[in-house]
Amino acid sequence: MYQLIKNGQVLIDGQLQKRDIAIDATGQITAIEPTITAVPTDPETIYDAHGHFVSAGLIDGHVHFRDPGFTTKETLKTGSAAVAHGGFTSVIAMPNLKPVPDNLLDFKTLVARNQAETSVHTYQFAPITNELTEQTIVDMSAFKAAGAAGFTNDGHGVQTAQTMYQAMQMAAQINMPIVAHVEDESLVNGGVIHDGQAAKKLGVLGIASVSESAQVARDIELARATGVHYHICHISTKETVNLVRRAKQDGLNVTCEVTPHHLLLDDSAITSDNAMLKMNPPLRTLADRQALWAGLMDGTIDIIATDHAPHTTEEKQQALLKAPFGIVGSETAFSLLYTHLVANGPFSLAQLTSWLTTNPAHVFNLPHAGQLAVGQPADLAVFNLTDTTTIDANTFLSKGHNTPFIGEAVQGDTLLTLVAGQIAYQKECVING
Ligand SMILES: [Zn+2]
Repeated sequence: MYQLIKNGQVLIDGQLQKRDIAIDATGQITAIEPTITAVPTDPETIYDAHGHFVSAGLIDGHVHFRDPGFTTKETLKTGSAAVAHGGFTSVIAMPNLKPVPDNLLDFKTLVARNQAETSVHTYQFAPITNELTEQTIVDMSAFKAAGAAGFTNDGHGVQTAQTMYQAMQMAAQINMPIVAHVEDESLVNGGVIHDGQAAKKLGVLGIASVSESAQVARDIELARATGVHYHICHISTKETVNLVRRAKQDGLNVTCEVTPHHLLLDDSAITSDNAMLKMNPPLRTLADRQALWAGLMDGTIDIIATDHAPHTTEEKQQALLKAPFGIVGSETAFSLLYTHLVANGPFSLAQLTSWLTTNPAHVFNLPHAGQLAVGQPADLAVFNLTDTTTIDANTFLSKGHNTPFIGEAVQGDTLLTLVAGQIAYQKECVING
């Protein structure tokens, strides 16, 4: 089946230019030209993308699909439908599941299920240590052979320097990244939001910035000693930005990610006991948020990842003290980022797409991902950059509706997502014809 995307706007050398895109029966892009006159026989396979932005499929290096173990929050099926709705065609899933896939049999089962049950390319991180909390490091070579995209205990910081040092030595030997959730538990103090003005006003315990940056500082020295590729998840503080900036100046193989919510919100948004604003790391201060924007601007921050973290409505309706940490992010990421960073912000569309396509493909060594090019798989997304829509949880394909962004007016609605030429998401009645 030959497919044609007509009249799209494609980024070429940083500029949007009108292009037609042809896709062959194997799902590969065969031509990207100003006008393609050979038209498919089946009119169903022609998409009119007139005036809309056609991007390489987005890549999210940090999602929680909750399956197995927490399928009331999300499943592989609903999670992948949600990411496709957001224009993502490749994701890397976190291993904080039940059971934690810390033995090869469970891990291989999960990798096979990711292949069989998701509508996007779902890569899988393996744990660093058993149960994500113990000191015993997994057999990294065996997990790499089984398809691990890297090693992470996301949800937990690695608490002892000795364990992290050994894990980094092992990962460096096999050329795999350590993907770190950074959190020194001895400094968390039972906090639920940032240790700042909002915590004081609401009378709840706060999480100090140093609980993140102290562990980053430790790990950067361990990365210096081992030469490992050290990737830091969801950085949130100005101190962390400074540490990463210096590590890069020193030539270390250190990369990091930031989430849309840490870029767009700070703890001044927490004016009531509202668990929709409870995430880990917490929303920090305006100064931290400005440092994150500066980190994107100067290349200190490599990628944007959503940390898509679905929970049930009942769980998130609880008070700040009781509700679980985390918000969903897949379905709102592109539109929120486009609206605030590009349409009303200082960044270009080319910069935004690099943080969501080419950079994550490079950081996590994902071949063929993040490119809209002849000879590559047709992993792509079509976004409407001009019309304004309102973020509405009823349109979410995730089981999770836990986001503070409901009701926001945004541009950048997803119209179509193709994964290897197959429709993974299509907005109703919009684009065929
Ligand atoms: Zn996470």
